[in-house]
Amino acid sequence: MNEDRTFLIIGASQAGGWVAQTLRHEGFEGKVILIGEEPYLPYERPPLSKAALLGEVTVDSTYFWSQETLDEANIETQLNTRVIAIDRNVKEIVTEGGTRMGYDKLAITTGARVRELPVEGADLPGVFYLRTMENTLAIRDAVKDGTTAMIVGGGWIGLECAATLTKLGCNAIVIESADRLCGRAVTPEISDWMLEFHTSHGVDVRLGTGIEKFQGAGQLERAVLPSGDTIECSVAVVGIGVIPNAELARDAGLEVDNGIVVDDRACTSDSDIVAAGDVTNHPNALLGRRIRLESYENAQNQGIIAGKAMLNKAEAYSELPWFWSDQFDANLQMIGLPKDWEETVTRGDKDSNEFVTFYLKDGVIDGAISVNNPRDLRIAKRLMLGKKQVTAAELINPETKMQGLLKR
Ligand SMILES: Cc1cc2nc3c(=O)[nH]c(=O)nc-3n(C[C@H](O)[C@H](O)[C@H](O)COP(=O)(O)OP(=O)(O)OC[C@H]3O[C@@H](n4cnc5c(N)ncnc54)[C@H](O)[C@@H]3O)c2cc1C
Repeated sequence: MNEDRTFLIIGASQAGGWVAQTLRHEGFEGKVILIGEEPYLPYERPPLSKAALLGEVTVDSTYFWSQETLDEANIETQLNTRVIAIDRNVKEIVTEGGTRMGYDKLAITTGARVRELPVEGADLPGVFYLRTMENTLAIRDAVKDGTTAMIVGGGWIGLECAATLTKLGCNAIVIESADRLCGRAVTPEISDWMLEFHTSHGVDVRLGTGIEKFQGAGQLERAVLPSGDTIECSVAVVGIGVIPNAELARDAGLEVDNGIVVDDRACTSDSDIVAAGDVTNHPNALLGRRIRLESYENAQNQGIIAGKAMLNKAEAYSELPWFWSDQFDANLQMIGLPKDWEETVTRGDKDSNEFVTFYLKDGVIDGAISVNNPRDLRIAKRLMLGKKQVTAAELINPETKMQGLLKR
């Protein structure tokens, strides 16, 4: 019944791949074409700053689906293909090579790109960003035991990169312009723990300073700080955030506001176009506000919702944001996006690097971050979903059984 229709997906990564797979799982029999500018099949990005940077995994092992699996599902891929325009009047997309392809339904899953550091010398060989497999392979090639590597930006990506490069024997120096690490995502107390944790593993963290410029004769040799101090380094990795790739949508007249604006069914203002993943600004009923998320789980699950929406089987997408990060021997996990909390309380022992910090608001948990304690974080998620009343005293008390709090 659907055989004649063509569904195109722009962006062959996690969200796009899940849109394609969902179309097939839901029985769609028309053409499914996944178009991506990168040379690889959809791959996982989390290993890029972890196992892949360490050189512990092959490129192929990061693929979500092998070529064989995609062939079996009859999902066509057009890689190395950049889409430059969407012509909604005739329902066609235009590639950089000038090819026009018609669609019946379209998914935009173009993710995000790195924010570039606007300083002199940032284009020198030796200055890297970290978003793609190519970035990771290039950094891996550029470092060896004893390399001094500067990491610009003390957020999640910067800290993971610092940990991995330290493991590779590099002298990692983190430069963060704010006065604390991961300041946009965690409380000052967790930032303090991160500082202590990274410092104790040999990372040189410099807070409250940016980079004035990079210098070198044809290759990075040093960074100059605004104070005039110089740091000799042959590698720099810049991790100062990302920008959603929403220009295609904006130029096509779709609503864009810090990402492509979609509803809770991943639908844009055009009934034939959905969007999912890092590129979307979507409503989250559980948080009561719109958000744009850069997270693995969101790319997958919103991709699934978008695939269903293309078949008019839409379901509302509403999940508590969840994110993890691995740094040295610490597994960090975050649930929720706490905002305007009244109090934080920590259960466990920060000194032994095993604890959970809860954010409390109106007597319920508004978010939590765990270090090496995924079990309590999972329970925190259930307490949040059940809107269970809890007190700081209960949470902090080691005698309190977290599981027991669920029974109220
Ligand atoms: C180094 C790194 C580590 C991470 N670690 C974690 C982690 O530990 N935990 C976690 O929860 N999340 C992590 N993430 C985040 C997670 O990987 C992303 O949220 C996820 O990849 C988003 O998927 P996406 O498909 O929405 O976008 P993307 O993965 O950004 O994919 C978008 C794709 O679209 C392509 N594209 C863009 N524009 C065009 C165009 N015009 N034409 C054709 N193709 C186009 C891009 O090249 C890209 O391949 C990490 C991300 C990075 C970069």
